[in-house]
Amino acid sequence: MYLSAANHRIPLSDGNSIPIIGLGTFSEPALTKKGDCAASVKMAIDIGYRHFDGAHLYQNENEVGDAISEKIAEGKVKREDIFYCGKLWATNHVPEMVRPALERTLKSLKLDYVDLYIIEVPMAFKPGNEVYPKDENGKWLYHKSDLCATWEVECHPYFTQPKLLKFCRQHDIVVVAYSPLGTSRNPHWVNVSSPPLLNDALLNSLGKKYRKTAAQVALRFNIQRGVVVIPKSFKPERIKENFQIFDFSLTEEEMKSIEALNTNIRFVEMLMWCDHPEYPFHDEY
Ligand code: NDP
Repeated sequence: MYLSAANHRIPLSDGNSIPIIGLGTFSEPALTKKGDCAASVKMAIDIGYRHFDGAHLYQNENEVGDAISEKIAEGKVKREDIFYCGKLWATNHVPEMVRPALERTLKSLKLDYVDLYIIEVPMAFKPGNEVYPKDENGKWLYHKSDLCATWEVECHPYFTQPKLLKFCRQHDIVVVAYSPLGTSRNPHWVNVSSPPLLNDALLNSLGKKYRKTAAQVALRFNIQRGVVVIPKSFKPERIKENFQIFDFSLTEEEMKSIEALNTNIRFVEMLMWCDHPEYPFHDEY
């Protein structure tokens, strides 16, 4: 499929479509200046991004919504040009809690619909206002739910997910790759024993060949095989850089050599919840 900066939506089996690159918007709230998220989303829209990946948990959905509304008011985009993905947090898995949670998201965004609403993690926590509920001994408070196993997919050259992608292709399911650049490597939730993806020698040497960065090669690898990417950056030059992936392509051989980098090790392992009965990553995908 021919993808360009101006036209990079790929079809979904229900007749809708999704832009193959989106801006990730998770940034550690305590370390992020107010306004950085809104400024990044506005800049991304100017550059050509039309897909935004957010969540109530990220504490900046209001900024994403304000930025989108501002760009709509300016006449730069229409609501239907934008694809927004929101997420249901683990303390709201009880069926009656889903709609109010989505309504809170819409209220923060000041939008009347989201394009996609997903279950953020497939493990339920004790319902309530505490986002990360623990008992007095610091033990996580889980909750039983009858949730079907539903999850998002980490995907990048060190974790290429061949089996899952084959299954999804056979069933016409589009995969969205979170952490496509290998995460921000925050040791609180990232498995940092795996080396930084963007230091990889092959990605850097291919970058040299195409006058691109390792990040651009990693993103191009995924979009070239039909996987949607949602790299996060709040830095103007990187937001721009991560979008400049439509003007080169990797050869079949290069795609294969990147696939061979797969280590089957996740950066986002969520090991702190590995004793949850629904912990998803004990299974092979
Ligand atoms: P990414 O793989 O997108 O990496 C983000 C990190 O890379 C940031 O530290 C960013 O820093 C840096 N970076 C961005 N662009 C470049 C570049 N061109 N060169 C070098 N460094 C770069 O990690 P995330 O884990 O943030 O994943 C992306 C998005 O996926 C999240 O923001 C979120 O929206 C979503 N996500 C969803 C999950 C879920 O729902 N289960 C789990 C994890 C992620 P800086 O900002 O300083 O540029």
